[in-house]
Amino acid sequence: MNVAPSPDTLSRSAGLIEIEHSLGAHNYKPLDVVLTRGERVWVWDVDGNRYLDCLSAYSAVNQGHCHPKILAAMVEQAGKLTLTSRAFRNDQLALFYEELAALTNSHKILPMNSGAEAVESAIKAVRKWGYEVKGVPEGQAEIVVCSDNFHGRTIGIVGFSTDPDARGGFGPFTPGFRVVPFGDAEAFHAAITPNTVGFLVEPIQGEAGVIIPPPGYFRRVRELCTAHNVTLILDEIQTGLGRTGRLLAEEHEGIEADVTLIGKALSGGFYPVSAVLSNTEVLGVLKPGQHGSTFGGNPLACAVARAALKVLVEEGMIGNSAELGAYFKRELEGMKSGAVREVRGRGLMLAVELHPEAGGARRFCEALRAQGILAKDTHGHTIRIAPPLVITREEVDWALERIAPVLAG
Ligand SMILES: *Cc1c(COP(=O)(O)O)cnc(C)c1O
Repeated sequence: MNVAPSPDTLSRSAGLIEIEHSLGAHNYKPLDVVLTRGERVWVWDVDGNRYLDCLSAYSAVNQGHCHPKILAAMVEQAGKLTLTSRAFRNDQLALFYEELAALTNSHKILPMNSGAEAVESAIKAVRKWGYEVKGVPEGQAEIVVCSDNFHGRTIGIVGFSTDPDARGGFGPFTPGFRVVPFGDAEAFHAAITPNTVGFLVEPIQGEAGVIIPPPGYFRRVRELCTAHNVTLILDEIQTGLGRTGRLLAEEHEGIEADVTLIGKALSGGFYPVSAVLSNTEVLGVLKPGQHGSTFGGNPLACAVARAALKVLVEEGMIGNSAELGAYFKRELEGMKSGAVREVRGRGLMLAVELHPEAGGARRFCEALRAQGILAKDTHGHTIRIAPPLVITREEVDWALERIAPVLAG
């Protein structure tokens, strides 16, 4: 139930928003809802209103807010040992490697923290592999990326973004990247040169508005990468770990990447944990002193990630994502609304694209918020719907009942 805020509580959230506004950098434009508590798919604001979280922190809380088993692992480890740096070994890292490798069929793992760091680390490793294994002349390595990509916010990454907001004013940028249209395998083919070492791509473009490439695209990309000895780097930071109804989104395409990047839900939202997964050849080029991170692979991160992976599998979240995602999508498609142009997605990674005349997705997200649903507009006309994977059918129905009048109105 949403209760109307009293003047008292209204001033509480308004006061906090004002402090944020005056002291914080304005690099985000959040909905004006100040959250204080979360449990499974639900979050509560400081005024006591409850909302269904349909963003899941961009898929970092796939396991649901404050999952009790991940919390217990975090608290237990935090009381024992949190950080050793990699100057010494810790007793959680090997177990993290072993469990993640078994789950994802990987041979080598590089633990990092944020998603952007995993992307940067993969770029470094793949370039080095290009020089040492493929035999590309020093300084000439090229990596192909896609238009409308989102891989993070570091200076290296925004340099090959095609979003003017992401890159404008931040140059000069790192050279060595070529941009091709997403979903066009022949454009990728044409961009390959003898110096191409990698193709960095999202299985489904999340930030671009949940864009699914045409059928057969990734099979052709895989063939081309194999034929030209180019490393296929799949950024599964958002699509991975059950979000699309499979452990990794590559499974929908029937292919295997050479390098896979995961992050976000790797910690269930408790702590930044990311990883680069690869075969022995690519990560094998990194020797002591050539790459690192003070926090990467720390015992707290490893204990949290082990628990986050365990509950994802043991509690059937991946299957639930497939089943309820398909149901959610079907029901959204069946809604009568002149505003909706297209419903798309896989698993619980869904998006409703509105006609441009509908007046923008932000207005709809504000209306959903008034109904007790937190969703995020992206690229002007798209509402992203991606609840935690622990959502029940009753909760999906609860959401549908509230989404229908908003889309109709
Ligand atoms: C969120 C995201 C990243 C960056 O992760 P951070 O933890 O925010 O650095 C990279 N790639 C994709 C596809 C993402 O969705």
